[in-house]
Amino acid sequence: MMEAGAQRRVTGETASSAMNYSIRRSPSARNVWLRFSQSGDLVVVIPHRFDIRRVADIVEANHKWIHRAATRVGARREAREREAPAALPERIVLPALAREWTLEYNPTDYPHVRIVERDGDRLVLSGNTHNYEQCRDALLRWLRRKGRQTLAPELCDLAARTGFSIAGITVRTQRTRWASCSRNGTISLNTRLLFVPPELVHHVMLHELCHTKRMDHSTKFWSLVESHDPDWRKHRKMLRAGWRSLPAWLDSRITVGRPDEGKRSLNTCEL
Ligand SMILES: [Zn+2]
Repeated sequence: MMEAGAQRRVTGETASSAMNYSIRRSPSARNVWLRFSQSGDLVVVIPHRFDIRRVADIVEANHKWIHRAATRVGARREAREREAPAALPERIVLPALAREWTLEYNPTDYPHVRIVERDGDRLVLSGNTHNYEQCRDALLRWLRRKGRQTLAPELCDLAARTGFSIAGITVRTQRTRWASCSRNGTISLNTRLLFVPPELVHHVMLHELCHTKRMDHSTKFWSLVESHDPDWRKHRKMLRAGWRSLPAWLDSRITVGRPDEGKRSLNTCEL
């Protein structure tokens, strides 16, 4: 059964084919349109003054086309869902920790995605694992956790060993920089650092620690860096290449590129 209503979606069903569809009145439509929504539902778009009682007959008259199109749309959607998890990693290698994990995707009825680490080198994702974004978000959360557990204590140790004092540490998934140091001495580290070798993680940490003494990139700053990291020039170059070789799934929403040096806030120094 249907109800009429301007600009309102109503659901109808034809008697013979029991086909579900919704009706949308469009002020700009001149003709009746049959189309499928993203989720695969049939939508009948009708002009503003169209007699809604005629819709059932139109759907009935076009049922062959509708069934063919529905099959096509469904197949395309299934293919999309099958493809999406393939773009996610099967392995995660974190050179900073000299460790790697094999990933398993176990679809279950749970509406979200959970990650459990097993046997030290297996990462098991379960739940709605057909959903690319949910898997990716879960993996990013796991990476942040790893970063907090490993990078933060490492920075604390390094600061203590080299005689720098820091106000705080944050570990985040930043899109354009490896790390930053705020004027109050809080150092922010990017979880992407987990994907580069330990010597480069050290290089980034030392760079930011030096900013706790000098908030600029003056000659004095670079001398300070050099006193702690004599190979800083080589490391800096390697770091740029490191950004380009980050796994693509990390940045599936943005273009992978080098850190954006143009966007620099006045109160922080970013690397
Ligand atoms: Zn800097």
